Amino acid sequence: MQYQAWFRCTNGEHGQWSIEDVLYHCPTCGGLLEVAHDLNALRARSPSAWMRLFDDRYKRTAWPYGSGVWGKKEWVLPQLDDANVVSLDEGGTNLFWANRYGQSIGLEDLWIKMCGNSHTGSFKDLGMTVLVSVVKQMIAHGSPIQAVVCASTGDTSASLAAYCAVAGIQSVVLLPRGLISTAQLVQPLANGSRVLALDTDFDGCMEIVQRLAREPGVYLANSMNSLRLEGQKTIAVEIVQQFDWEVPDWVVIPGGNLGNVSALGSGFLMLYELGLIRTLPRIAVAQAERANPLYLAFTRGFDRLEPVYTKQTLASAIRIGNPVSYDRAVRTLVRFDGVVEQATEDELADAAARADLTGMFNDPHTGVALAVLEKLVRARTIARGQRVAVISTANGLKFIDFKVRYHQAALAELGITSREVNRPVELPADFDAVRRTVFG
Ligand SMILES: *Cc1c(COP(=O)(O)O)cnc(C)c1O
Ligand SMILES: [Zn+2]
Repeated sequence: MQYQAWFRCTNGEHGQWSIEDVLYHCPTCGGLLEVAHDLNALRARSPSAWMRLFDDRYKRTAWPYGSGVWGKKEWVLPQLDDANVVSLDEGGTNLFWANRYGQSIGLEDLWIKMCGNSHTGSFKDLGMTVLVSVVKQMIAHGSPIQAVVCASTGDTSASLAAYCAVAGIQSVVLLPRGLISTAQLVQPLANGSRVLALDTDFDGCMEIVQRLAREPGVYLANSMNSLRLEGQKTIAVEIVQQFDWEVPDWVVIPGGNLGNVSALGSGFLMLYELGLIRTLPRIAVAQAERANPLYLAFTRGFDRLEPVYTKQTLASAIRIGNPVSYDRAVRTLVRFDGVVEQATEDELADAAARADLTGMFNDPHTGVALAVLEKLVRARTIARGQRVAVISTANGLKFIDFKVRYHQAALAELGITSREVNRPVELPADFDAVRRTVFG
């Protein structure tokens, strides 16, 4: 195949490197790398031919092209051998019309993209399939990789552990002790990962893992490794595909390390540059008020990143004070006429609960996105008739403790009022008692 992708520096023409090189920063300027594609070669296929190809593969059996990521393989990593693809049939998640919730907040065309309905319960699977596949190919080509490591707020490690277990590769994950959900802790344990729970927060884990990654035989799986963003960017392509190749007016996404908003942007730009779409959506990044460095920078006109000390938040997967992909995220937000808004603990918990009452089962990060959505609608930044897609990033079942404590009204220490509490009524096994309760 004539299509090609390679690493290049995000700051300028400082060289080109193979995607199989063990390299995370530009040797010239220290900037992050990104994956570049030969767009001219990709343009040789017409927009409608790409749409037909992607539609023909979508959720079908021909392995690995039924995956939402690998169905777009030419746009992701064309040089990867199919034999090295490590896939769990990720992507292809439902995008549903949230009509009753939308009406209740003043929107007619609100859609939720359920990226958490994935193998490990979060959208991190989309990028991890790409990274672990490249590792498998590197090992097949003789690279002496012994372990793939990451620091994580819980979802990256669950995903890395699963994909490495599928491929038979050792994973090592560094987690902030006591700051992730029980499900997130047990996932990598079950998959045979070396799980190191450190007495620090995510930012502390990140510092140590970057040093660890300089040891020979160790490969870094954090999103500063831009291979992951190549998988995550397929969210944009898949949303447009699910809208029959139409572009929504807005996409709302929760942000922590900010790799995903950048990936979302690069997916839309690829669609745009290859002629599949003629407009770009606006993007809103939603942050927790207790971990809000991007929001603060936004209110100062993106002058610069000032890292923050984060505070405890229910949105633990986006509790990041010093986001690695800040620069890429700002570039994306400028290009997409984007905005950043924040949500308090009380706001995120109630937004999640209100939306749950219309049939969802939201995790706290999606709660942040929904609370921000409600604010942007109230501020008339988002108008009633506009089409909005909210990225739901994780499955609520991974965050049961949040849900249980909300409905016990046991989150007061975080300033949460629990306005939508619903509790079980405990009764003897007695018909009359049941009848009185149902009709009383
Ligand atoms: C990773 C993650 C995010 C944020 O993605 P970033 O790229 O770190 O900004 C949001 N929600 C959930 C559930 C996540 O796991
Ligand atoms: Zn550079």
